[in-house]
Formats: sequence, structure tokens, C-alpha cells
Amino acid sequence: MKNLIFTLLITCFCSNLKSQSPKHEQPNFIIIFTDDMGYGDLGVYGHPTIKTPNLDQMAFEGQKWTNFYVGASVCTPSRAAILTGRLPIRSGMTSKKQRVLFPDSKNGLPASEITLAEQLKGVGYKTAAIGKWHLGHKKQYLPTNNGFDYYFGIPYSNDMDLLQGDEFKNYWNRSYDSIEPAHFNVPLIRNTAIIERPANQHTIIKRYSEETINYIKKNKDSPFFVYLAHNLPHVPLFVSKEFEGKSKRGLYGDVIEEIDYGVGEIIKTLKEEGLAENTIVVFTSDNGPWLPFKLNGGSAGLLRAGKGSTWEGGMREPAIFWAPGRIKPAVITEIGSTMDLFSTFSNLAGAKLPHDRILDSHDLGPVLFQQKESTRNSIIYYRGNEIYAVRLGDFKAHYITQGVYGQFGKREEHNPPILYNLSHDPGEQFNINNQHPDILKEINNLVEAHKSKLVVGKDQLAERE
Ligand code: MG
Repeated sequence: MKNLIFTLLITCFCSNLKSQSPKHEQPNFIIIFTDDMGYGDLGVYGHPTIKTPNLDQMAFEGQKWTNFYVGASVCTPSRAAILTGRLPIRSGMTSKKQRVLFPDSKNGLPASEITLAEQLKGVGYKTAAIGKWHLGHKKQYLPTNNGFDYYFGIPYSNDMDLLQGDEFKNYWNRSYDSIEPAHFNVPLIRNTAIIERPANQHTIIKRYSEETINYIKKNKDSPFFVYLAHNLPHVPLFVSKEFEGKSKRGLYGDVIEEIDYGVGEIIKTLKEEGLAENTIVVFTSDNGPWLPFKLNGGSAGLLRAGKGSTWEGGMREPAIFWAPGRIKPAVITEIGSTMDLFSTFSNLAGAKLPHDRILDSHDLGPVLFQQKESTRNSIIYYRGNEIYAVRLGDFKAHYITQGVYGQFGKREEHNPPILYNLSHDPGEQFNINNQHPDILKEINNLVEAHKSKLVVGKDQLAERE
């Protein structure tokens, strides 16, 4: 009898363990990528009134990176960078003529590029893109043709397909105070079919979060990769009824708080499904805040300028890595980039890195799991096809500076370059180029070495219909 009870207990214990632990060894990956959120817009990054308890908790349980960069300061090239692990100049996803893709653009991410989704799909992952795409809206460029099994989202920015009204004639003086989703005729797509137009943007944050949760539940028995790219807080700002007027920071704060709530629900789902220990969640944004839109734009905190510029506010972003039991909790001051996720996740999944092209991607594994130094010690800040600035270690040299958009400050070339020590002076206020000719020389050598191997991809942004 005793033996029977013991056997039953062991059987129960083992079957319980089985239902709790994943059936596969490869970790799941979730990237949550917001649009135009600034370095200073989260509670855990110092915002005094926007409340982000779920992201704060993720940072507490995981790693908060304070020197984490995107591959470009505007949407399309930044998205090409995170998904290919390459500077967008290599894929042709930057242009001298314009900065992003539009609803009448002819092209998109070239088929020759290898996306992170293609890497992971090749080693057995289920893959979903939920949210903003902005790498080509025609069928051949959509996520389902770029390594994702599933797509649900708006294929470009939420302010596109504008139905003209007098209040929108002057772009920079647009009033966003009395707008409706109906003013922006953006499509909502499932896989390749338009299912709603104009998309009801009031419920879009909520629906993206719910789609992610459903995908996790449906695909938990195999390794999965979800790329959740929120269309917000890019203007125009919209929230669901439950979050309207909820924050102390006005509509922009309501948007961030609704995104934070969705993150909390996703984390809760991972815990309930027994996936928390085998899933790596990263939260970051595609570029800095869109400052010309004043109260409708976010904040880069102590960093200078915002979206569109190669000042820190344009390209340094909050980045939170969460995987309880795997990632060592810490505040990380090492340098990282969205492009590094390509190598980091490929290596963890057992996907071989391509050797027929130059990658701009470092494996962040040693920092994430052992708190070692990052192998990345430089950032190249492109604006379109030109290098505007370079960071090497603590120092950043600006070869060219320019205001956020054409109307907000003219282009200036600097010879010798302006130099800042970002560890001492993250706000880029105090030029110290006359004290460090040696460092300027080192940075120049880095630029020359980069240029000597650079093959510029064919411009995919210029052609419009
Ligand atoms: Mg953006």
C-alpha cells in the first residue's frame, strides 16, 4: 500500500513537473518595440508622472540597460536594423531622398536580406509579427514573406493615409487635439488581407497585446518568437476607454500606461503557462521622441534632442531584458544595440549566423547571463546615407550635426569633430575636442575601416508610385 501511494505521488509530481516545464530546450523570444518613445518616458527611466509598474518590475527582475541604441533615428531604417542585425545602409533601407517608406512607396526590405524571424524559423520556431511593420506594405514585403508565420497589424505609421482636412495642412502645426481614427485611412492586416480600414486605433494597443497573448497560448508547445511592434506612442495618439484620462501626463502618458498594462498581461500569461523561465522578453523603442509635436511627443529625459537626430535623444533608448532565472538582474552601463539581438538570439536558438555578409551584431549573451563586459564598444550614427557621429567607448565625435527635422536647425559640418564624453556628459553639452586629439584619431581610424568594407545597398526608399 505504502509503495502504491509513493508511486502515485511520484507520478503526480512528475506529470505536474511536465506540465510546468517547456517541452523544448530552445528559449522563446518576445521583442516589444514601441514607436517614438523617449529615453525618459518610463517610470524606471525617471519619468516623474508616467506610471509603468509592469516595466519597472521587469527591470527590477531583469536588466535595465542605460547605453542601448537603435540602428537609425527614424522608423523604417531602425526596423530594418533590428530585424537584420545590419546597419540599414547595407540593406538599402536608407536613402538620400527620404527617410522612411510611405503608402505609395514601391519597394521594401530586399528578399536577399535575412531576418531574425528567418533565422529562428529555420531552427523550428513559430514566428509572429504583431503591430507596425514599415518595411514594405506590398504583399511580397509583408512579414509573412520575411520569416513570420503570422502577421496582424498596421503595415506602416499610424499618421499615414491621411484624409486631408484644413487642420492638417501645415504638417508641423497640425492640431492633434480633435482627431479621430477615421482621419487616417490606415489598413489593419491579418497575414496578407486587409480586415479593417481605417483601423480603429482607439483599441489598437489592447488588440496587439491580446493577439500576442493568444499567440503565446496557441504556440507554447514549440519554441516561438513574437515581434510585437506597437504603432504608438507615434502621433496621432489614441487609447482605449479604460485608459483615457488615467495618467497624470495627459494623453501621451495614457498611451504609455496602456502599453505597460499590456506588457504586464503578457508577463502574467508567461508565468501562468509555465513559460517564464524559458522566455526572454526585451522591451525597447525604435527611435527617440518626436519633439516638434510638443505635448503629443515624448521625452528623451536628460539626453539631447529626439527622433530624427543623431544626438543621443534620437538613438539611445530604454531597453529592459527579462528572463527570470537566466538573466542576472542588474543595471547595465555597457553599450548595446537593437542589431545585437540578431546574433544573441540566433546563438541561443542554435541558428548559424550567415557568413556571406557583414553583420553589425554582437552576442550580448556574456552580459545578459554572466554580467561580463560587452564586446561592442562602438556605435555608428547614420542619418540617411551619411555618418554624422561615432561613439567609441565613452567618447562620441560629431562630424555633422543637424536639427531634428529640416525646419528645426540647419546642417553643420565640424572639422575637427565636436567631442563629448558621454559617461560624464550624457546631455552632450561640453565639447572637449581640444583635449583629446588621440581619441579623435582613433575614431577617424574606425570610420576609415568601416568605410573601406562598406557596400551600400540599392536604395529601396526613393521610388514612389
Ligand atoms: Mg518611430
